[in-house]
Amino acid sequence: MKAALEDWLVLDAAAPSTDEPLRTFLDGAALGDLRLPFCTNGHPLDFDQGRCEQDGSSDPPVWESVPSQATVIASIVMHRIEKTFVKALVPYPVIEVELVSGHRLYVSTDREPALSYQTGDEVKLTFVSVGETRIPRIQVEEHNENRSGQ
Ligand SMILES: [Zn+2]
Repeated sequence: MKAALEDWLVLDAAAPSTDEPLRTFLDGAALGDLRLPFCTNGHPLDFDQGRCEQDGSSDPPVWESVPSQATVIASIVMHRIEKTFVKALVPYPVIEVELVSGHRLYVSTDREPALSYQTGDEVKLTFVSVGETRIPRIQVEEHNENRSGQ
């Protein structure tokens, strides 16, 4: 297993709680595996979503590994310095992505990006280490390579 980069952006204090509903997700992330919840009919669910919006089922979610490819839905750049959780001293992106599984996540990048992200950009998620956990981030390298010919 590849070692995850230490995060450039947030302090260890920002590590997510390893209690449910994130425990299964974080256990997967620790192995470099993106695991997300689905309803029993295969619709993507949010972490804490008790009832599927598409079919009304409220059975316990089924967790499955999903591909790390995603599309950018929205992207903003944060200029606020929040010293409790953020160690980056430069503006940083907060990006909503939709995975090919249909799940939507808010993520940032695994390092300071050279370019800004646009709606519709194809990206790949990786993980960075924050405290004892690993959290998903957009892999910047591939993004920049994809644009290098333009
Ligand atoms: Zn469903």
